[in-house]
Amino acid sequence: MSSPTNNKAAPAAEPTKAGNFIRQIVEHDLQHGTYAGRHWGGEPGDGPSHQAGMADPAKVRTRFPPEPNGYLHIGHAKSIWLNFSLAAEFGGVCHLRFDDTNPEKEEQEYVEAIREAVRWLGWDHHFADDPARPGMRQPHEYFASDYFDFMYRAAEYLIEAGHAYVDEQTPEQMRANRGDFGKPGIDSPFRSRSPADNLARFREMRDGKHPDGAMVLRAKVDMASPNINLRDPTLYRIRRATHHNTGDTWCIYPMYTFAHPIEDALEQITHSICTLEFEDQRPFYDWLMERLAEGGLLTAPPPRQYEFGRLNVGHVITSKRKLRQLVEEGHVNGWDDPRMPTLVGLRRRGYTPEALRLFAERSGVTKSGGAWTDYAALDAALRETLDPVVPRAMAVLEPLALEITNWDELMGPAHLEPCSAPVHPHHPEMGQRHFTLGRQVWIERDDYAEVPPKGFFRLFPGNKVRLKYGYVIECTGATKDAEGHITKVLAKLVPDTKSGTPGADSVKVKGVITWVGAADGLHATVHLYDRLFTEEQPDAGGKDFLKALNPHSLRTARAVVEPALAQAQPEERFQFERHGFFVADRREHQPGKELVFNRVTGLRDSWGK
Ligand code: ATP
Ligand code: MG
Repeated sequence: MSSPTNNKAAPAAEPTKAGNFIRQIVEHDLQHGTYAGRHWGGEPGDGPSHQAGMADPAKVRTRFPPEPNGYLHIGHAKSIWLNFSLAAEFGGVCHLRFDDTNPEKEEQEYVEAIREAVRWLGWDHHFADDPARPGMRQPHEYFASDYFDFMYRAAEYLIEAGHAYVDEQTPEQMRANRGDFGKPGIDSPFRSRSPADNLARFREMRDGKHPDGAMVLRAKVDMASPNINLRDPTLYRIRRATHHNTGDTWCIYPMYTFAHPIEDALEQITHSICTLEFEDQRPFYDWLMERLAEGGLLTAPPPRQYEFGRLNVGHVITSKRKLRQLVEEGHVNGWDDPRMPTLVGLRRRGYTPEALRLFAERSGVTKSGGAWTDYAALDAALRETLDPVVPRAMAVLEPLALEITNWDELMGPAHLEPCSAPVHPHHPEMGQRHFTLGRQVWIERDDYAEVPPKGFFRLFPGNKVRLKYGYVIECTGATKDAEGHITKVLAKLVPDTKSGTPGADSVKVKGVITWVGAADGLHATVHLYDRLFTEEQPDAGGKDFLKALNPHSLRTARAVVEPALAQAQPEERFQFERHGFFVADRREHQPGKELVFNRVTGLRDSWGK
């Protein structure tokens, strides 16, 4: 079906300017020139030298720093939206940074999937091809592992300045001596080693002189701090593993707490936005920035960390580990199963970037955690953005045959009556769809009732309904098979009632039903999805989320659809009249050959049911 707007969803509403505390912080910093001292030149990772490069006007720099150990999910969509839209709104830049400091879990497959997801969400202008940086690395795309050299130098500096030491306690001793919330920690016996001894030991760690786990480098902060994150956190560990970027160059790897602030500082991030779990890590973030500034390793105003409440969505799991389990144990058909809350899953299901962005924006940015957002809000965003623009089509999801018994006398046995309908009821410029009505018609099974329940205005013996865009028909009965199942509904056409012709309304009917002509209707596979979990918080309190899997989350129907859908392109979206929003499946749908549609969501909210 050709339509001028095709799959473009309506532009999402303008971002609300007020009410986002992080935006207010950014505005304040811009007004007060907090980052006016920044210069930008060279490459991050060069250390302080790059800060003396070309002057660049002070800009907001944010970053989205996924660890490439899984596919992104709906929670990440929120973080992506927040970071990229803040930067865009204030004329700044948002970096896509792969936080790939952990050599064990990261894979190239995930790097590519993350890049594609960020692009799909609409932030591709940040990755436009830059002739100055050919190859995989795009502008504003960074890898934490590129900073390993700098991180190593920073660690040596901390050792020399007496701010870090090599600890040879066993992991059990370290755990025991860390204390807990009520009990201060105990200093390690290695804590008072001289900087020279520590440096020698650390170099031995780097040079592979010690086995994995034999010792770690720790910051020397305060073992009695009420904040456990300040009780001499580990900075480096020995781990013999091949890293996807640095190969076997290193056998020591920096820990997140140490690496992340450095990554932010080297990229001259101004506002380092993360979720609330990291709040207790902020004091160490600031401690490290101060120490490195004292040592002259960082000269620009340090980035600051701000935390917001993570996005929790009802009936959804947002933990990469648990999502991986669903995939690996075969509870779903891969990361892009349309029931998955991954961005590839949501995409395949038919959600649009516009709907996800609107949803992220509406879910709010707050300082408190624990809030849950109703999944219905995502569907509402989808309907609002798709309804004004997507083409309409008729589809019969549970086909039941209907025969117009007086067709031959009235119209002639071989006659097919051309009918048409607007592609979009409010956009005449999108044109008309064409299909035919003949003696044999497909209708929805539940549009017929032998004994009509109260308030039922569709087909039952003696009742008249309109075949939408066609004629009024009067039901005369139905045929049944040996078991008593309805096999065919019988009806008579009422002459001179064709939609759009003079006098069409002379016969009043209370019911209008959708249909597809048997002569030109096309068979299609239609996947009807329901929530993946029956419980609103399937993994709350450590519950076994597999117990809450909905056994009816996927139903596949053999449907009949109107002929215009033959040319639907993969990922093209439609509103099937009366049924909801559907998308031609990204993978299985083949125009003109094999039609496969996924239901994104119904026309009305059904989450409350
Ligand atoms: P997971 O727990 O699923 O592995 P993660 O937080 O470890 O997720 P990262 O790849 O480290 O995943 O996350 C990248 C960014 O996305 C981080 O800044 C993180 O705070 C943010 N993020 C992750 N989940 C959510 C969420 N549910 N809501 C908002 N932001 C999120
Ligand atoms: Mg993580």
